[in-house]
Amino acid sequence: LIDINALCDEFLRLSYHGLRAKDKEFNAELVTQFDPKADKIMAAGQEMGRVLLNLFNNAFYSVSEKKKRKIGPADYMPLVQVGTKRLSDQIEIRVRDNGLGIPQEVLDKIYQPFFTTKPTGEGTGLGLSLSYDIITKGHNGTLKVNTSENEFAEFVITLPASDGIS
Ligand code: ADP
Ligand code: MG
Repeated sequence: LIDINALCDEFLRLSYHGLRAKDKEFNAELVTQFDPKADKIMAAGQEMGRVLLNLFNNAFYSVSEKKKRKIGPADYMPLVQVGTKRLSDQIEIRVRDNGLGIPQEVLDKIYQPFFTTKPTGEGTGLGLSLSYDIITKGHNGTLKVNTSENEFAEFVITLPASDGIS
């Protein structure tokens, strides 16, 4: 069993500080909302860590690009929100950013291995395809996305609750 709230918190900081190490100017607001009833998950910590790190890195990349390219209002403030929630018999993890969002033609391909819109060296295009397999095949969960171009992208993971209590 792993503590998903602690894992989210740890990897969110890691991801944020990783970006800030490359770009000292970068600043983002982080908002977390962890459900204390959502902590225990039957999962491999290392695999779940890779999934979270990829989602967080994608979110920070998107908000930093939006800022750099000056898309959106002059006072645009990057925001990354991460939350967990205990549902009746599932645990939900949400990762939302107010970055570039994902246009439809890109959305159709995001889970394909090696698909990336990032310049060479910035992305391998393997993150989401790997994450999708880890969540759906490896943990019997789901991975879904809600997005609006230039407004937001939100990835939602659901995993079966480990206690089987509903
Ligand atoms: P990579 O990060 O190496 O490009 P991923 O599989 O993690 O590979 O993501 C694939 C593509 O999905 C990205 O190149 C990007 O176009 C899109 N994408 C993923 N997450 C986001 C996000 N939070 N906001 C906007 N686009 C995203
Ligand atoms: Mg990625």
